[in-house]
Amino acid sequence: MMEKSLTDRFDLNYAEIKKNIAESAKKSGRKYEDIVVLAATKTVDADFINYAIEQGIGYVGENRVQEFLSKNDAVSQKAHRHFIGHLQTNKVKDIVGKVELIQSVHSLKLAREIGKVSINKGVVTDILVEVNIGGEESKSGFDPEQVCEAIDQMQGIKGINVKGLMTIPPICDKKEDSRKYFDEMYKLFIEIRDKKLYNNIEILSMGMSDDYDIAVECGANMVRIGTALFGARNYNL
Ligand SMILES: *Cc1c(COP(=O)(O)O)cnc(C)c1O
Repeated sequence: MMEKSLTDRFDLNYAEIKKNIAESAKKSGRKYEDIVVLAATKTVDADFINYAIEQGIGYVGENRVQEFLSKNDAVSQKAHRHFIGHLQTNKVKDIVGKVELIQSVHSLKLAREIGKVSINKGVVTDILVEVNIGGEESKSGFDPEQVCEAIDQMQGIKGINVKGLMTIPPICDKKEDSRKYFDEMYKLFIEIRDKKLYNNIEILSMGMSDDYDIAVECGANMVRIGTALFGARNYNL
């Protein structure tokens, strides 16, 4: 059983997020149903994740392989599972076949390994291309100028299916400052989706607890939310 204070707070948080997303979606000519809310579930235990799924959360994402594996069996099969964290090539074999989509593909080497393992396991793994939109040294991901070329290459890799783009923009002092990064991402997304005539580019994953409303205004159709749903984590990952 979940503690009532936790579930009550979750209910309030989720209602607030829905309202905010509906408003932001409207500003960008869309509606709430056009946006996927993925719950970022690091440090959240399986019972609480399952509670969230019962309340309507349809997508969950973990960002560490070990933590994902430790909770995976206990988490309801009703939710779509994504991997959203930094993935090392040698861990690919542990999660392929267990997650529906890997959001954080930051190199061609990683894409090739996901393809290879997927073929061995007889599956096709959906992926997003991670973009380092702020050009930060400390972050992984493709530079914006490299993304088209990277996707061209990935189209030739069997066992993967490129479904879109994801980003974690630089941390900004003022929340409005992140807008320019989200705008740039949206431009890149549209350019790739429309001009390059790829079949399956449809997901733009950006926006977290502090800035998901701006990300949706700028065109995100998937947001990844942890703290604003479940409360503050005990430690940072
Ligand atoms: C933790 C995490 C999130 C969510 O972060 P919050 O600020 O808690 O909403 C989103 N994306 C990734 C990749 C994460 O690791």
